[in-house]
Amino acid sequence: MSFTYLHATTRDKALAALAEPGSIPVGGGTDLVPLHEEGILTPVRVVDARGIAGARDITRHADGSCTIGAAVTVAELAAHAAIRAHFPVLAAACASVGTPALRNAGTIAGNLAQRHHCWYFRRDVGCFKRGGAQCAAVDGEHRYHGIVAAGTCRAVHPSDPAVALEALEAQVEIASAAAGPRRVSISELYAGAANDPHKEAQLAAGELIVAVHLPAAAAGGAQHWEKVMQRAAWDFALVSCAGVRRADGSVRLVLGGVALAPWRVSDSVEEDVSVGGLDEDSIDALVERAMYDAEPLAANGYKVQLAQAALKRTIQAL
Ligand SMILES: Cc1cc2nc3c(=O)[nH]c(=O)nc-3n(C[C@H](O)[C@H](O)[C@H](O)COP(=O)(O)OP(=O)(O)OC[C@H]3O[C@@H](n4cnc5c(N)ncnc54)[C@H](O)[C@@H]3O)c2cc1C
Repeated sequence: MSFTYLHATTRDKALAALAEPGSIPVGGGTDLVPLHEEGILTPVRVVDARGIAGARDITRHADGSCTIGAAVTVAELAAHAAIRAHFPVLAAACASVGTPALRNAGTIAGNLAQRHHCWYFRRDVGCFKRGGAQCAAVDGEHRYHGIVAAGTCRAVHPSDPAVALEALEAQVEIASAAAGPRRVSISELYAGAANDPHKEAQLAAGELIVAVHLPAAAAGGAQHWEKVMQRAAWDFALVSCAGVRRADGSVRLVLGGVALAPWRVSDSVEEDVSVGGLDEDSIDALVERAMYDAEPLAANGYKVQLAQAALKRTIQAL
């Protein structure tokens, strides 16, 4: 089925177009096109908002916070001097995404709103998110699936930047013609994703991600990114880990590749890491505690060990 393309030059025009039934946003199209071919997305029209004012800008404000336009590419974030200097965990996560071609075409908004890459979902084989009663991976092929049981679907969210953004406590700004702009955290963006049969990012019809905001308090300090892959490039994370120790000493630790949204380890573990001065035995005990609630499936218990190893390296680096 074909669709039409609209190049919107202002936010108002983009939102008015998106308010019409069957219209959806497009960024680089690197996930939208495969989703269309797979019959998952059937838009009447795609609305390209990359040309609207500010969409391609990365702005560092006087207070140290930063605003990233929705159409900034993953490659631009990886290379940007202020992001590398003040939010290096995000730059590193972006540098680890897919391939140079994907990083140059893919936008930060499209990356956050991409669908997951579970083979049952993409190929429409008995998948809960394609109308099935339960997650086909649970009794099927699930070696890359989630180890934290967050709900019905056991796929993992593919976005590396989302994991770093959750560690940085970023806010995603969303606009629509029907309501004024709203801001949500990364965990709010994906809240309920594992039980929602239709989407992972909780965006309503007509909504457009317009920016991502990085708080000043998250700038600097110590930051670390880990991504464990089956091969060295062009691959999704088996497990990833983003760690941020803010200048005030507080710590946030977030795992990717383990659940249908970036998964923050318990705050009691983060608090113990923030105290510092941990020897190797204490770190081993902490990472074991962090993964205590993991419920791996029959063939992906190895991911618990990977998560512990990624967490351990992150804690040591912080
Ligand atoms: C082989 C392969 C390997 C990959 N490896 C990785 C990886 O290692 N790590 C990783 O993080 N990602 C990976 N990806 C995913 C890739 O990064 C995404 O496809 C890309 O970031 C999506 O960005 P886009 O701008 O092309 O989005 P599009 O394809 O244009 O859109 C994707 C979705 O986002 C929606 N959307 C787009 N813009 C907006 C907006 N402004 N507001 C609201 N919704 C919007 C679209 O409607 C669509 O549903 C990989 C993809 C492939 C194909």
